[in-house]
Amino acid sequence: MESYIELIEKEEINPALAIFKFKFNNPINFKPGQYITIISNIDSNRILRPYSISSAPYQLPEIEFFIRKVKNGEKPGIFTSKLFEAKEGTRYEILKVSGLFLLDENDKRKKIFVSSGTGLGPYISMIRQEIKDRGKCNCIIIHGVSHDYDLGYEKELNRYEKEGKIIKYIPTVSRKEENPEWKGEFGRAETLMEDRINKILNEKITKENYVIYACGHPGMIENIVKIFKLKGFIENKDIKFEKYWSQPKKITEQRIQIK
Ligand SMILES: Cc1cc2nc3c(=O)[nH]c(=O)nc-3n(C[C@H](O)[C@H](O)[C@H](O)COP(=O)(O)OP(=O)(O)OC[C@H]3O[C@@H](n4cnc5c(N)ncnc54)[C@H](O)[C@@H]3O)c2cc1C
Repeated sequence: MESYIELIEKEEINPALAIFKFKFNNPINFKPGQYITIISNIDSNRILRPYSISSAPYQLPEIEFFIRKVKNGEKPGIFTSKLFEAKEGTRYEILKVSGLFLLDENDKRKKIFVSSGTGLGPYISMIRQEIKDRGKCNCIIIHGVSHDYDLGYEKELNRYEKEGKIIKYIPTVSRKEENPEWKGEFGRAETLMEDRINKILNEKITKENYVIYACGHPGMIENIVKIFKLKGFIENKDIKFEKYWSQPKKITEQRIQIK
């Protein structure tokens, strides 16, 4: 039987950011951290795009995604510009679940989940499932965004922190001058992770007590990997990541100067 998902709700965070909720016709198993490739027929082309699942497996047959309407330079993103116009009831064919950005059940270290933008999605899935199975998730979540109005899932994460279900939720906003009301951390996720994080947590981050996850913007991820490799962390063992797209190397290197 062909697998498809049907749009049941779009929860708008702002005009270019939303949580899309779908219902499966034929639920398939997935693990928190995995993604599904969604297919859309646009101008007689089959357009395929992967999206991390932000809901937890226990919530099936409903499934949700945290998605940004992107601009590719001046051009509207091919898939997301149409998705943001889709009406409830729209169906999308899907490909099977994939992805190795997963929690390791045998790893007892605390986790730091670093994200930029919609890179938060897979952590929401992980946290919800951990809370359901174990009552809490032993993690700190860092969410880097440009503006405070980009903080999807903020209420949910604040609640988990208040209830002691996660260790800490640290949203950080990069455009200081455009967010005069913001009272929290400023700067990109990776600049916070350089050394400010040790002060915030009142603890030194070492590979003995922490495993680092990074998801979202490729430049952020490359910088996180650089920062933590210098501290002795090993890629894929102590630092795990999922990049949402690739970008020219030159731009990546301009994002941060590693001391
Ligand atoms: C494993 C994986 C999981 C992903 N999960 C998510 C997710 O949960 N939520 C989500 O919003 N996106 C996610 N993406 C990105 C998604 O697959 C699409 O690339 C994105 O939605 C843009 O598609 P588009 O056709 O609208 O843009 P296109 O017309 O294909 O233009 C894409 C170009 O826009 C630029 N761009 C700017 N911002 C972004 C951005 N945030 N994402 C991608 N490209 C950007 C890049 O230069 C990129 O090459 C994921 C990607 C991967 C590889």
